Amino acid sequence: MAPPSALPHITTKWTLFLDRDGVINEPPEHLYARNWQEFHFCKGSLEALRIVSTLFGRVIIVTNQQGIGKGLMREEDLSLIHKYMCREIEQAGGDIDAVYSCPALEEEEHPERKPNPGMAHRACEDFPEIDMKRSVMVGDKRNDIAFGQNLSMYTVLITMNSNIQANADFHFSSLFGFAKCIQQIVGT
Ligand SMILES: [Mg+2]
Repeated sequence: MAPPSALPHITTKWTLFLDRDGVINEPPEHLYARNWQEFHFCKGSLEALRIVSTLFGRVIIVTNQQGIGKGLMREEDLSLIHKYMCREIEQAGGDIDAVYSCPALEEEEHPERKPNPGMAHRACEDFPEIDMKRSVMVGDKRNDIAFGQNLSMYTVLITMNSNIQANADFHFSSLFGFAKCIQQIVGT
């Protein structure tokens, strides 16, 4: 694990990939946020999203949502959550370029389910200027870090639990902490 001061100097040529649950919103009480009422932003995450939107050229969300594969929610429920989520982020001054989700079950080992790289490949098709070597993946699980590593991105683990060992390049307790640190480095 490198110290925060070793973070790269971010410019608008960089892309930020973000996991959703546990990074942007609180880990859902029932494992899945099945509707907007069950979706709660983490403390400081809206401000963090505003900051990173000004620093990175692209901000992209990549989220495993096997609640759909399990039949606990529908694609339409997820689309609605993402519509409301993006609207709140925009109202707070942030800007999400795209949200990619994978509804497949873990055991399917679907090419788009993290840690497999499919969702990043979709992002590269939609935004051909994305450079994996100038990309950062932020997540709260081993799968997220492995996803970033499979794609040669910088990796950032967000967790309050220092027992989670995911071999990420960097570690912060919140997305807000990460955003403030990047902002400080760019400002110096
Ligand atoms: Mg997560």
